[in-house]
Amino acid sequence: MIDEREWQETFAGSFRGDVKFGVSLKERTSLAIGGPCDVLAEPGEPVSLRNMLVVLERRGIPFLVIGGGTNVLVRDGGIDGVVISLRGLNRIEVIRESNADAELFVEAGTGLQRLVNFCKEKGYAGVEGLAGIPGTVGGAISGNAGSYGCEMKDVVVSVALMDSAARLDRLAAPAMRFGYRSSGVRQTDVVLSANIRLQRDEPQAVALRTEGFFNEKKKTQPLSERSAGCVFRNPAAGSAGRMIDEAGCKGMRVGGVEVSGLHANFFINRGSGTAADYLHLMDEVVSAVHRKFGVVLEPEIRVVGKA
Ligand SMILES: Cc1cc2nc3c(=O)[nH]c(=O)nc-3n(C[C@H](O)[C@H](O)[C@H](O)COP(=O)(O)OP(=O)(O)OC[C@H]3O[C@@H](n4cnc5c(N)ncnc54)[C@H](O)[C@@H]3O)c2cc1C
Repeated sequence: MIDEREWQETFAGSFRGDVKFGVSLKERTSLAIGGPCDVLAEPGEPVSLRNMLVVLERRGIPFLVIGGGTNVLVRDGGIDGVVISLRGLNRIEVIRESNADAELFVEAGTGLQRLVNFCKEKGYAGVEGLAGIPGTVGGAISGNAGSYGCEMKDVVVSVALMDSAARLDRLAAPAMRFGYRSSGVRQTDVVLSANIRLQRDEPQAVALRTEGFFNEKKKTQPLSERSAGCVFRNPAAGSAGRMIDEAGCKGMRVGGVEVSGLHANFFINRGSGTAADYLHLMDEVVSAVHRKFGVVLEPEIRVVGKA
């Protein structure tokens, strides 16, 4: 636990950025669910992040990095320690361009859709299928976000990471161990930035594909409702959404959280939902799918914090 006075004494002069105390994670998650954190720190530069990590490590204060909060369920008891947001680190720079391809440097706090739109305008192909996925580049790398056959791993060349002892490393894509909605990024690593490679194409062609994927997504997913995206990973046996639907769970509700009628693998917070409701609904859905198909669904969302 670190309070405001201690923070000022400890970090005076060594941390540039925004700091808030006792912030509710409801304000920082797309589900609008979650208890408070002790400290929410938004470094304005990598050096401030480094200085902070050194002190947190020395004092044994836990931290959690949050991106757009679009793939996490924060439990109702909130989060001990420091929640780190990198939304102040959001530069996109073209570092190399040829007739065939282009390489970009992208900071982790950049909105994924800002990157998709940047590529659309420039005529850089490779991330069109990610249109409509909310959150940040850091979160998308950590979970290897993807849709329509396009995944972050397909464009990442290398990733700059800082570990909990503030050691900086740059890993080439194979060392990132990307898998289905997963990577080798640990809970105690901070993704700082990535270099990504895209193919050159006509801007109109890239725009057409990007908009095509986005329109398809709008038709099949409840994009404007309060959700955290897909709740469960697709099992080897097929689509989790189809199984949940066929197990009769669409519209099933616990407290303020409901299984979406549009896409059964999305749970919607109808306004008063809690993490306890969400977890209870997950249990109900897992049981229903297991009864119908003999398959045990595994969570895709990251559950963090204390009950
Ligand atoms: C409406 C909707 C539709 C969605 N559709 C899709 C989809 O089609 N495909 C898909 O893959 N996902 C989808 N998602 C899920 C989600 O948007 C993605 O997983 C997204 O990439 C998460 O990014 P984020 O910044 O919000 O991460 P967060 O939710 O903030 O964090 C997710 C995890 O990443 C870690 N993390 C975040 N940033 C960093 C960092 N800089 N360094 C280290 N760790 C970090 C966090 O600690 C946490 O463990 C959808 C979500 C919603 C709400």
